[in-house]
Amino acid sequence: MANRVAIAIGAHPDDIEFGMAGTLLLLKKAGYEIHYLTLASGNCGGAEYDGPTLSTIRNAEARAAAKILGAQFHPCLNNDLEILYDLDTLRRLAAIIREVKPTVVLTHSPQDYMEDHMNTCRLAVTAAFARGMPNFKTIPSRAIASNDTVVYHAMPHSLRDPLRRRIIPGAFVNTASVHKTKHAALAAHKSQQKWLDVSQGLNCYLLAMEDMSLEVGRMSKKFKHAEGWRRHLHYGFSATEADPLREVLGKKYLVNKAYERSLSGGC
Ligand SMILES: [Zn+2]
Repeated sequence: MANRVAIAIGAHPDDIEFGMAGTLLLLKKAGYEIHYLTLASGNCGGAEYDGPTLSTIRNAEARAAAKILGAQFHPCLNNDLEILYDLDTLRRLAAIIREVKPTVVLTHSPQDYMEDHMNTCRLAVTAAFARGMPNFKTIPSRAIASNDTVVYHAMPHSLRDPLRRRIIPGAFVNTASVHKTKHAALAAHKSQQKWLDVSQGLNCYLLAMEDMSLEVGRMSKKFKHAEGWRRHLHYGFSATEADPLREVLGKKYLVNKAYERSLSGGC
């Protein structure tokens, strides 16, 4: 059996809790070792403190959230708005991937409302791609990993791409059974309550997560609470096409047939 290891890679502290944590929790229940990594410190997510102070506060919140999820916490690599598709970050993220050896990678949508999310997605995909390439040097240096891995992309913020087009999930995960824990992990990001109300008009960030979860559930036509996923093309990641979430989650996983039909161009 393949290693049962999953990593969620988000841009900012709280992104994993918004759209990935339910699936991560279900994987843990199924026996997976789970990992939690946000690339940015969250230093720009507020106006009441200076950047270093806010980074410290949000690092503590993210650690508390990871503890609630039962996930291994990894420290951030960058600051907010400084997640660039750059070689240094790629080398450092690739080192983490080689250490963790995830067989499931959960990350942002390739299309999302802000660059930090999209760059995190690109970095996660390439770091996973480079796991077995000895001539790609990581920081710190790490031996290559030979495991297959499958990358899943979460739903973007507001379920839309930056050009406002609706994004349809390729599959739904029924997160109702772990929703309370997901909610508790998001609530650990206490500093975000006031900030997101002011900066993004989110009427309480906890309610925003609730709304998204219910909306994706409605889209599934089957589940009350759900997270949506799109699976990355397998070339460079696994020898053959694989869908471990489907294998592991059973009835809690629903393939979106409309999405699958759209992949073949409707022919
Ligand atoms: Zn974010």
